[in-house]
Amino acid sequence: MKQPFVTLNEVNEITKTYPTPFHLYDEKGIRENARRVYEAFSWNPGFREYFAVKATPNPFLMQILKEEGCGFDCSSMTELQLSEAIGAAGDQIMFSSNDTPPEEYRKAGQLDAIINLDDITHIDIVERELGQLPKTMSCRFNPGGFYKLSNGIMDNPGDSKYGMTEEQVFDAFRIMKEKGVEHFGIHAFLVSNTVGNDYYPTLAATLFELAVRLKEETGAHISFINLSGGVGIPYRPEETGADIGKIGAGVHKVYDHILVPHGMGDVKIFTEMGRYMMGPYGCLVTKAINEKHIYKEYIGVDACAANLMRPAMYGAYHHVTVLGKEDALCDQVYDVVGSLCENNDKFAIDRKLPKIDLGDYLVIHDTGAHGFSMGYNYNGRLWSAELLKKEDGSVQLIRRAQEPKDYFATFDCFEVYEKLK
Ligand SMILES: *Cc1c(COP(=O)(O)O)cnc(C)c1O
Repeated sequence: MKQPFVTLNEVNEITKTYPTPFHLYDEKGIRENARRVYEAFSWNPGFREYFAVKATPNPFLMQILKEEGCGFDCSSMTELQLSEAIGAAGDQIMFSSNDTPPEEYRKAGQLDAIINLDDITHIDIVERELGQLPKTMSCRFNPGGFYKLSNGIMDNPGDSKYGMTEEQVFDAFRIMKEKGVEHFGIHAFLVSNTVGNDYYPTLAATLFELAVRLKEETGAHISFINLSGGVGIPYRPEETGADIGKIGAGVHKVYDHILVPHGMGDVKIFTEMGRYMMGPYGCLVTKAINEKHIYKEYIGVDACAANLMRPAMYGAYHHVTVLGKEDALCDQVYDVVGSLCENNDKFAIDRKLPKIDLGDYLVIHDTGAHGFSMGYNYNGRLWSAELLKKEDGSVQLIRRAQEPKDYFATFDCFEVYEKLK
């Protein structure tokens, strides 16, 4: 059974100050999980997790991860600015962007971030924007074709826009070495939200073998290998989560098997997890405000897809708990819906739940990553607040809810703004 990290009593208390809907995050869960990740890779002295900022771009949450030793994986100007704002710089920032505007390379250069090139044509752009190439550079690799794991999961990198072909990675290393780059990294992100413990070890073997050949054929010093993101979480109650300890041990095994015999026992392992670091430690708390009986039974809540897009966008499953009815019989079948004028604005479809009364609070689980951050303003629906349940149980506002004045702010250069603000 999936238990929320917040109780009805706590939500009753919180809503005295902060009305629903809001995203709530669990500091204790975030810290304990981050420590498990570092423990799992403690065999690798240079290991670092660069949290994928796009998953949850909130400086308060980033600060928690920074205290746990994490760096930040950025791919846009504002993600770089957020990282800068909490005092990250230098090798604490990985700039893994694609289709990158030149000014973002300039910003990454000013912050002395590690630049992970998505394309070979960007060597010249970085050189031009920064005056010279940094001493450390990384390349994103795309092996093409299909990528298969032993459990049959596969993805189709050949159809993805990211990264360089193998030949381009070799060329890029040679060119950059000639231009004075001294330390190199390799990066790949091949399968998203993986189940089981197989993905990182399999990817590691692919990248380690490539690293050995790159070292031997170009003479480049491989400083790090970045396994990027993709470790999944159990969104459904019947799923078992990844075992990060086993994943770390699996990477260790291929490291000892492939890299160490080639004198590459100093290579640092990096990860850029987003979902795994934050997903389970956030939830969307919303209130049942309408019920409707037509051809199906509907519960209307005060959140909508603008606050959590994954169900509408991917048909993604998010578990729902009715607070105070955790142990009640799930003898009703509901569609739980938001208010958007879009028929895909449904948090749950044909979901077995306890009888819901108006005013009940629903917890939508696992919204800590790619949740709030994918929010949008369709139908003029506003962003919710973000709250942090701290380790001592107190609750802190870490982003206020958007107000109409925020929604209208970009009209500030027009006369109508005076009437809107
Ligand atoms: C999105 C992304 C991640 C994080 O992915 P998760 O599935 O959240 O772990 C890491 N690296 C890059 C380059 C990404 O685009």
